[in-house]
Amino acid sequence: MRHEIARMASLPAVRSAMEWFRDEEAEFARWQMDLARIPAPPFGEEARAEWAAEKFHALGLHEVHKDSAGNVFGVRRGELDWGISISAHLDTVFPPNTPLNIRQQNRTLYGPGISDNAAGVTALLALAAAFENFSLPHAASLMFIGNVGEEGEGDLRGMRHIFSETKWKDFIRASLVLDGAGSDTIVAEALGSRRFEVAVRGPGGHSWSDFGAPNPIVVLARAIHLFSQTRVSSSPKTTFNIGVIRGGTSVNSIPDSASMRVDMRSSSGVEIQRLEMELRRAVEQAIAETEAFAGARKSPERDSGLTWEIVSIGNRPGGELDPGARILQIARAVDAHLGNTSRIQRASTDANIPISMGREAIAIGAGGSGGGAHTLHEWFDTGGREIGLGRILLIVLALAGAGQ
Ligand SMILES: [Zn+2]
Repeated sequence: MRHEIARMASLPAVRSAMEWFRDEEAEFARWQMDLARIPAPPFGEEARAEWAAEKFHALGLHEVHKDSAGNVFGVRRGELDWGISISAHLDTVFPPNTPLNIRQQNRTLYGPGISDNAAGVTALLALAAAFENFSLPHAASLMFIGNVGEEGEGDLRGMRHIFSETKWKDFIRASLVLDGAGSDTIVAEALGSRRFEVAVRGPGGHSWSDFGAPNPIVVLARAIHLFSQTRVSSSPKTTFNIGVIRGGTSVNSIPDSASMRVDMRSSSGVEIQRLEMELRRAVEQAIAETEAFAGARKSPERDSGLTWEIVSIGNRPGGELDPGARILQIARAVDAHLGNTSRIQRASTDANIPISMGREAIAIGAGGSGGGAHTLHEWFDTGGREIGLGRILLIVLALAGAGQ
């Protein structure tokens, strides 16, 4: 494999493309900032999809189209009857109306979504451009995909759709997912997650005249207190987070509802199930404690009127790539060739869908370096981006059977 990678890397077209990646940096930074200025909240990716489709056309991709989920495709056909997909998610975590103050200072780009995933989409475009500008060999077809629904409540719906509903689902033999900055990781283990919305409802009332009526915000606070004391396994690493709380309308009303959103992650489905049980137990106990306390103040036999429900708002399947998978061997051989130190990582990415189906897929970064993902202070350092792009190119060429 290493010999094959070295032979490919020495092809004149490949070497020219590698140099071009370095020379074209200013243009890549412009694409990245243009893209990051287009809002793309979960379920609101249309404008970015339009932008990506235009770019796909301009960069010479064929069969540019959108599927019914909103994913954008562009194709370069090879002689074989199968293809590989190179994808980057279009969506961000940021709600509509988030100020997108995207700017550049020297070689660093700043602003929400600039790394995650404007960097990934930029790498996707840079790769498409390289195949248009240089005669890079590929026997398999190359599917370039800007997909929707990776972040948060998107729940991987873009990839789920591609691998269950579209005509490409059996055509794609291996998937390379470009997500975020960096060149030092290979995500080959799909971290599973479950997400829930917990809602507590009560009769509500006036803060003075109905004093003593059960307060859903208090119930929720008790439940959070109880649940947050849950012990979790450190191996396999298991985590939980309460990311959103809502409830109440005014300071002098007893609210009639309160809710929270909870995220649980582990590569072990059993650990996630255990956490889900703990969450239910915490809410039940919080209701019981609140009722006991209210009952002591009012008539104990009266129904408190409190109800609760837990609704699943996210379910990402987990799984692990076979250690002997060809895509993993290729990625490691490319890193060895480039003298690039990388480590295998477990994360929740678009690659979860193909990996959970037993297909070959990995997720890697788009080069450069970055930080502050999912915050307004996100940044991307373009320095060394060409190394990441070269890495992606070599992986794609090897996957697609270059020069066979
Ligand atoms: Zn991402």
